[in-house]
Amino acid sequence: MTYTNPETIALHGGSHRADPNTGSVAVPIHQTTSFQFQDTGHAARLFGLAELGNIYTRIMNPTCDALETRIAQLEGGVAALAVGSGQAATSFCVMNLCEAGDNIVSSTDLYGGTYNLFANTLKQFGIEVRFVDPADPEGFARATDARTRCYYAETLPNPKLQVFPIAEVAAIGRRLGVPLIMDNTAAPIICKPFQHGAAIVMHSTTKWIGGHGTSIGGIIVDGGNFDWEAGGDRFPTLNKPDPSYHGAVWSQAAKPLGPIAYILRMRTCLLRDIGAPMAPFNAFMFLQGLETLPLRMERHCSNAIRVAAYLSSHPKVTRVIHPSVAEGEARRRAEAYLKGGQGSLMGFELKGGKEAGQAFIEKLKMFYHVANIGDARSLAIHPATTTHSQLNEAEQAASGVTPGYIRLSIGIEHIDDILADLEQALS
Ligand code: PLP
Repeated sequence: MTYTNPETIALHGGSHRADPNTGSVAVPIHQTTSFQFQDTGHAARLFGLAELGNIYTRIMNPTCDALETRIAQLEGGVAALAVGSGQAATSFCVMNLCEAGDNIVSSTDLYGGTYNLFANTLKQFGIEVRFVDPADPEGFARATDARTRCYYAETLPNPKLQVFPIAEVAAIGRRLGVPLIMDNTAAPIICKPFQHGAAIVMHSTTKWIGGHGTSIGGIIVDGGNFDWEAGGDRFPTLNKPDPSYHGAVWSQAAKPLGPIAYILRMRTCLLRDIGAPMAPFNAFMFLQGLETLPLRMERHCSNAIRVAAYLSSHPKVTRVIHPSVAEGEARRRAEAYLKGGQGSLMGFELKGGKEAGQAFIEKLKMFYHVANIGDARSLAIHPATTTHSQLNEAEQAASGVTPGYIRLSIGIEHIDDILADLEQALS
């Protein structure tokens, strides 16, 4: 049966039904480096990609495969690749298309780790990242030239928490032949970027998908909806013979296996050469998280709406940042792209600036004070003195962080207990 409802896909989607050898219902943890070939012909077919199958866990593993096929189905894509972290996923997304001298165009509204990778580390490899304010989608068109390989953005970037104009930028990209890659980490279930024209979706599975703060991981999903071959010279890594694979042209070689050229090349070349696979144990943990993700998202989102309303009427709070209280274009975008919830990340501004922000964090009793998001537990941090402390005040302001800004990741506890902890810390 093919399921379309996320609640069912999270439990039954993908390749795993029961272990063929033991009948195990839970996906077994295949903690092995290597897989025995049936015979020399089988080995040769696997290496020659005439048949897809397990060779070595750096490149493919059945526990990771169960996660990959399930998340691909959940996002509405055709195939996925699990890797060791969200950062590895972002790096792979870009490296799969870019050579030295190429560029990508990225939204300015990014997670700090991604910003560092784009602004500094990719430069070392000759890849230029052009940053564009998503307030004006046409900025992506203006920044594009013949060596632009992709656009990159986050669905619900913090701290501004303004939803990215996915369809607008995807349409510009489709006009110019440039694929849009979306980091959908903060909006699983509630946003489906492929439905709005994105070509690739990635997640840090560390966050809501894992949901319990136990494991670091990332995943890239191929939408199977972008014509890489038609892009010709724009996609040299997919359209030129690959000397590392007997001259294979990936847009051709993938055809018998489906519209999976992008993700196939990422697995066969980047995972092979750079490594960074997801550990099978972590894939197992993410499968556990995934089973309850749709249910948790409902509670995360309904709690967040209550917290936003509570903070909005609190006398010590000057500003609340959450899609449910957004206005104007930000509200329109939230309504267009978020369905069934508006996310559980939230920001708010305290009257007393930095001192008030730090004092508030110190007083929290139930919220954890951590640099993470997306846990089942409620989390809080004061960005100006932690995640954004390397930036000067002007840079902080440009990124949306003011001295009194507090970031919350609202958990799934009872709403009364969440509000009670906020109330006692504020008072
Ligand atoms: N993308 C977003 C939106 C994130 O918030 C993070 C981490 O906070 C990452 C990517 C990187 O993920 P990881 O920490 O799993 O490497």
